[in-house]
Amino acid sequence: MMSEVKKIAVISGDGIGPEVVAEALKVLKRTEELFGYSFETEHALFGGIAIDQKGTPLPQETLDICKNADAVLLGAVGGPQWDNNPKELRPETGLLAIRKELGLFSNLRPAVVFDCLKDASTLKPEVLEGTDLMVVRELTGGIYFGEKFRRQGDQGEEAVDTCVYNVTEVERIIRQGFEIAQKRRKKLASVDKANVLETSRLWREVANRLAPEYPDVELEHILVDNCAMQLLRRPSSFDVIVTENMFGDILSDEAAMLTGSIGMLSSASMGEGSYGLYEPVHGSAPDIAGQELANPIATILSLALMFRITFGYEDAASAIEEAVAEVLNAGHRTSDIAVDKSKAIGTSQMGDLILAAMKK
Ligand code: NAD
Repeated sequence: MMSEVKKIAVISGDGIGPEVVAEALKVLKRTEELFGYSFETEHALFGGIAIDQKGTPLPQETLDICKNADAVLLGAVGGPQWDNNPKELRPETGLLAIRKELGLFSNLRPAVVFDCLKDASTLKPEVLEGTDLMVVRELTGGIYFGEKFRRQGDQGEEAVDTCVYNVTEVERIIRQGFEIAQKRRKKLASVDKANVLETSRLWREVANRLAPEYPDVELEHILVDNCAMQLLRRPSSFDVIVTENMFGDILSDEAAMLTGSIGMLSSASMGEGSYGLYEPVHGSAPDIAGQELANPIATILSLALMFRITFGYEDAASAIEEAVAEVLNAGHRTSDIAVDKSKAIGTSQMGDLILAAMKK
C-alpha cells in the first residue's frame, strides 16, 4: 500500500549539525524501505551557514520551505565565528525567529533512561529503572514574556517581571498534554503553584475543565516544588508532565539529567495541529565538529518523535527506539557515553549499526 508523501524540511545547520542530520536521514530512508512510507525532503539554510551565504540567519526561502512542509528536522546552529556578530546576525536570533514564525508554542522533551546507561546517571540505578517521561513546556507565554520594568519604591530601586497567561494559551498547551498522554501511558501530571499564583489557579481550573474530554487519561495536579523532588525520588512514576514556561524550563533540564548524556536527548517544538520542529537538545558542539565524534542518537530519536507525534507512524517510531536500545545493549558507544574511550565508535558507525538493527 502506498502511503501519502509527507514533506520534511531539513535544516542541517552548523558544527556537528550536518553530521548528525546525515545519520538521521539514513534512518529516514531505511524507514521508507521497511514500512513503505514516503517522504520528500527539502534542505534549507539556517544559522551561521545562512549568515555566511545569504547574509541572514533565517532567509525567507528557508521559512517558506518550513511552512510548506509537514514537519522540520533541525540539527543545530551556532559557533564561535558568529559569537561577536551584531544581534541580527547571530544564529540564536534565527532560532527565536523561526519558533515565532512557525507558531511553535510548546516544547516537548522526553527523558528516557536506557537500562544499559543507568550507571552513567548521578542517581542510583534502582531509582531510575523504567524511567520514560515527557515534559511538555509552554513556550511563548508567562513570566519570560510579560512586561518587565524598573521603578523607584519606598526602599529604593525595584524590578518587576509580570506573569500573564490567558485561557486560550493555557487550554491549547494542556490539550496537547492530554493528547500526548493518550499516545503514551495515559497519565498526565499538571504542574503549577496554585497555592500562591493566580496564573496557576487558572491553569488548574482549565486542566480540570478539560479532563472529562479525556476520560482515558488520569490527571494529577502537582505543585512545582514537589514535582522537582518527585522527579528525583520516583522518576519512573511520571508519564507526561505539562507545565508553564518557567517551571518547564527548569523541570525539563532536571529531567534531562536523569538520563546522563546530552548526546542522547531529543526534543520537539509544536505548533497548532500536528506541525512540529524536531531537534536534538544539544548545540552545534564546535569543539568536536568534523571529527566523527558526535553522537547522532539525539537526532535519530528526534526523528522517531516526529514519526510518532506529527505522522502517527508508531511502528516506525518504535522500530527506531528499539534499534537504538539494541545497539546500546550490545555495548556500542560513541565517545560521549563510552566508559572506555579507546573502544568508542564514530558518528556514522553508530548510524549504520542503528540502521542494521531496525526491524519491521
Ligand atoms: P553544545 O550542546 O553544543 O555542547 C556542550 C558539550 O556537549 C560540548 O563539550 C560538546 O562537545 C558536547 N556535545 C554536544 N552534543 C554532542 C553530541 N551529539 N555528541 C557528543 N558530544 C556532544 O553546547 P555549547 O558548547 O554551549 O554551544 C555550542 C554552540 O551551539 C553555541 O554557538 C550555542 O549557541 C549553540 N547552541 C545551539 C543550540 C541549537 O541549535 N538549538 C542549542 C544550544 C547551543
